[in-house]
Amino acid sequence: MKEKFYICVVNQLNYDVIITGARCAGASLAILLGKLGYKVLLLDRSQFPSNTTSTHIVGEIDIYKELGVFEQLQESGAPSLHRMRIDLDGTFFESDIIVTQRALGLRRTEFDYILLQKAASFSNVTVKQNHKVNKVLKDNEGKTIGVEVKSKNSVSKQYGTIIVGADGRNSTIASQVHSPYIYESEMMRAGIYGYFKDVNPLTHPCVEWYFNQGDIIFCTPTNDDLHTILVMPHPDHYRNMKQNVKATLLNSIMKNKNLRLRLENASLIDGVKGIGPLKMFIRHSFGSGWALVGDAGAWVHPVSGTGMDDAVLSAKELSIAIDLYFKGIKSWEDALHDYQTKRDQIINIQINRALSTLQRADQPLSAEKQAWLKLICTFPSIVYDLGNKGSDVLDFLHFKNQDDLKMLVSLEKRKIIHEMRRNHP
Ligand SMILES: Cc1cc2nc3c(=O)[nH]c(=O)nc-3n(C[C@H](O)[C@H](O)[C@H](O)COP(=O)(O)OP(=O)(O)OC[C@H]3O[C@@H](n4cnc5c(N)ncnc54)[C@H](O)[C@@H]3O)c2cc1C
Repeated sequence: MKEKFYICVVNQLNYDVIITGARCAGASLAILLGKLGYKVLLLDRSQFPSNTTSTHIVGEIDIYKELGVFEQLQESGAPSLHRMRIDLDGTFFESDIIVTQRALGLRRTEFDYILLQKAASFSNVTVKQNHKVNKVLKDNEGKTIGVEVKSKNSVSKQYGTIIVGADGRNSTIASQVHSPYIYESEMMRAGIYGYFKDVNPLTHPCVEWYFNQGDIIFCTPTNDDLHTILVMPHPDHYRNMKQNVKATLLNSIMKNKNLRLRLENASLIDGVKGIGPLKMFIRHSFGSGWALVGDAGAWVHPVSGTGMDDAVLSAKELSIAIDLYFKGIKSWEDALHDYQTKRDQIINIQINRALSTLQRADQPLSAEKQAWLKLICTFPSIVYDLGNKGSDVLDFLHFKNQDDLKMLVSLEKRKIIHEMRRNHP
């Protein structure tokens, strides 16, 4: 048997912040701290550019301008999507997207790499790829003081004032610091996806959402003229077919007549990727010398479609907290408590939305209800009345009792009213 030799390196150089995980959460935090002048070590066990298990909707704009990567994201070859299409068991609703100026269908190979390169452009940020964090180092009082890192030929110890886990859902940092769970959901649906070539494109590319006989499907154009199709099968459908995940994906897509037509000449490339049923969670996000950001601290089901943006927005909040602490304006506890409150505001909205969307999809529309829907959409006058009474319809619907949706809808209503007043003073 071939023996492996590792050189053990003890690095006395102290960093202000050591970040484990260099995708959207970690790289964004490194950029923000780099801009503030802190000495940062950014570690990842992967080599970039590389893919990860995720589809690709990026919706935010301002935060990427602040990170200095907005132009690169726009010019990355990812389609800019301005329209949203919702297919409810064969009946379409389509409009301009109003929650953002555009969504991008951007592959993770591009997105994470753009952020990583930006982080690496700061002389005070050191990036190490192919470096896996094995262990969190603590002092006698239990404060985290560093990490043990394994690379191809060596094991080293790196020391820093703050140790951040941005290392994803199965975070090594979170488990080693024993970060408790504040919230855990029931098991949620699986999410399986693939890349398809030669999908008949829509005239105006859309973020496409399908409520599909109990399944939920996202279909989005992405780089290289491909479409990503993500299926979140109804638990019964997944249970029946999980031995053959590819068949589960294709059967679900083919059940929808509109998608079926679009995929007449299409083929699946690179196999099927995804996740099985998992729980959503929120973890306590800080302790003595450590903090968590992105999926490491809170995992929301992909039905939200906002995990990347949320990770980046949370990184911004964490950078503010770390800065206030280093400047002596706030104690570690106070600064990080504020971070956690803001992080939870971002995450709780998405968790509630994910839960309520999946609950709806669990009970597909009956044939009778589908017929009513078709009736509504067949008669232009009814559609007109629907538009004419849009605000009342929103108030009337039962979600007026659900705080998260109520808040989102009232926010959008306010934006619409503001826009109207601007255009017609
Ligand atoms: C099927 C699916 C579809 C999705 N679709 C979307 C979508 O359309 N839009 C959206 O916004 N979000 C989507 N998400 C969610 C999104 O992928 C995550 O929220 C996002 O990747 C979180 O980023 P992160 O940086 O926190 O973690 P990750 O992207 O998981 O990155 C963690 C990094 O840490 C590294 N790492 C882990 N352990 C170690 C270690 N011990 N040492 C060193 N490095 C380590 C990993 O190599 C990895 O690079 C989807 C998720 C899934 C599962």
